[in-house]
Amino acid sequence: MPRLFTRRDLLERSAAVGSAVAAASLLTPGAAFAQPAGIDSRSEDLEDIGNTCPLGSARDVTIQGGVLRSTSRGGVFTSRVLRSATPFTHLGLHWSAVVPDSTDLRFELRTSPDGVAWSAWAAVRVETLPHESSVGDFFASLVSTPGARFVQYRATFSTDAGASPSLRRVTATAIDSRPAPVGSSALATRTVTDALTGRSVTVIARQQWGANEAYRFSRKGKEIWPEQFVPFKKIVVHHTATANNYTDGAAEVRAIYRYHAVTKRWGDIGYNAIVDNGGNLYEGRHGRGEDAATREVLSAGVVAGHDLSHNYGSAGVALLGDATGLDWPMPSNSGPMWDALVRYSVFESARHFVRPLVAGKDSQAVDSDIAVADFLRSDDAWSDAMRNVSGHQETNATTCPGQPVMALLDELRTAIHNGLVGAGTLKAGVQVGSIARVANVNQSLTFSWIDQDLNGWAVDHYEYCWEGWFKPATSDDVQYLTLGSGYEASDWGSAQPRQRWQPTAAKTLMLTPLAAGHYTLHVRAVVTGFGGTARGLYEGNHTYLVK
Ligand SMILES: [Zn+2]
Repeated sequence: MPRLFTRRDLLERSAAVGSAVAAASLLTPGAAFAQPAGIDSRSEDLEDIGNTCPLGSARDVTIQGGVLRSTSRGGVFTSRVLRSATPFTHLGLHWSAVVPDSTDLRFELRTSPDGVAWSAWAAVRVETLPHESSVGDFFASLVSTPGARFVQYRATFSTDAGASPSLRRVTATAIDSRPAPVGSSALATRTVTDALTGRSVTVIARQQWGANEAYRFSRKGKEIWPEQFVPFKKIVVHHTATANNYTDGAAEVRAIYRYHAVTKRWGDIGYNAIVDNGGNLYEGRHGRGEDAATREVLSAGVVAGHDLSHNYGSAGVALLGDATGLDWPMPSNSGPMWDALVRYSVFESARHFVRPLVAGKDSQAVDSDIAVADFLRSDDAWSDAMRNVSGHQETNATTCPGQPVMALLDELRTAIHNGLVGAGTLKAGVQVGSIARVANVNQSLTFSWIDQDLNGWAVDHYEYCWEGWFKPATSDDVQYLTLGSGYEASDWGSAQPRQRWQPTAAKTLMLTPLAAGHYTLHVRAVVTGFGGTARGLYEGNHTYLVK
């Protein structure tokens, strides 16, 4: 498993900045090294039920051994008022519960600055299930609560045939995401350029939005979620299901970062990129390199945590806000938020050669115009005919990114294609025409491909590379397959799941896998015409699950 630093490096670097660590908030985990401090978002866990008999009011809810259950007709538990030591801007409700099939446990909450004047009760939305975090809780999306100090929650139990959900603990994590220090008005940006395609995108890098990199490390200086890299074949669109009426997008991003990295114990934010209502694009998941001055911003193919079982090989972009709210800032395919979504999607599609529409189509009129390909999930199951540009709800049971965004994905695919093609004639793509997708170790696999949309260009040759990895059932860490002697390390000096691209004149390649895993051929055309040579826009790829 590759590491950019050895443990020994980490410990030495941590020791060198010991005083800075001591000065950080007690609530800040981990040790910072060679990083700007970032802006700390304090958080406080207000725990309820748990060890003590809960105070609050119950209707048809009973407590036994510290566990709340409802009577057979269902019930409601309304908590006591929980009070935070300091005002908070966001609240993340999470709970430990067992919810049998066909029963339901729903939460609402309200907040108050003074314990007297209360907001209306508002339902919370579950965004993370117990098996998606080492905490083992259900996590709701963050709720915006500027100036609040008090919170109260209400749990509604729905039963089925006498079975009731059982609730052991509720924690209201109050996050205070402070504004950036006075005087730093407009956020600085970085322009990231992809060396191969020459395409650029302007982004607010982690240090520019104030990411406190200490959140990524344990108290002992161990990186909680080491970066791994799998080439993106899909782009998945999300909304954050947080408030729409924000004026400081960076503070919202910092709150989500704190919630994902620290409260959920993921060790980083789950999205690859975030887009706000002002058209700002924020770098999400940390990528290659640790030194703030030289690290890679928006690393290609870095595995994030946005779409369960689909994270290895997809880019997750989140629209900041709640698309189902009446004040959703992106009701149509125009405006700064839309433009930023398109900019990021074009950049990511370009450097990963992701095709949004089927060959021969320049806009999406009907569903059959949408480019799809079977996607091999990290748990070895398949998402059949997964759309290359899709919404979160197409791959997991969630309402994310909300219908208003789902309704715009057709326009997004067209916009990505147009952004890639521009005014030119270059569309050339490749389609790998294999049908089988499961094979055995030592079985010879044949991959062949056809040209698409040459549009006046002629193929000079092709470029291909193999991607190979497997994920042990007991670990989140991908093990890269070396694919024999042809495998080369990346420019970053550490093993990567795919080789450097190699030229070939052939239209067929064979591979005999010597170990079980996920094997993908990536191939693209280098074309000549119109007075020059260029790389085709869209790669072909095909994945085998080798057992
Ligand atoms: Zn989502």
